[in-house]
Amino acid sequence: MKIFEVKPDESVYCPFCEHVVFLNDGESEPEVCPHTLLIATDLGIAFCSDTLDAESLEDEAAESSWADVVSEIDKPEAVLIEMYEEAPEFFGAFYLFEE
Ligand SMILES: [Zn+2]
Repeated sequence: MKIFEVKPDESVYCPFCEHVVFLNDGESEPEVCPHTLLIATDLGIAFCSDTLDAESLEDEAAESSWADVVSEIDKPEAVLIEMYEEAPEFFGAFYLFEE
């Protein structure tokens, strides 16, 4: 899995089709494209494709963290985009894509 980090004020683009999955304007909801596997934040799952088991991912995240759970998903070809808020929040958002 390739992992990229974007700044908390950046938008998130699909690395395969460049669709704007998350327009960072403070009000837009995430909009998935066909390559989106998972959108999760420290608050929980915002989107999960049928190829992943949302329930077991949430169970795992409850015991560790979304950062650990998402990076350990067995998808070698996938691309993970991480976004962390500045201190003191360190709120994380995780966008997983696969072609
Ligand atoms: Zn896409």
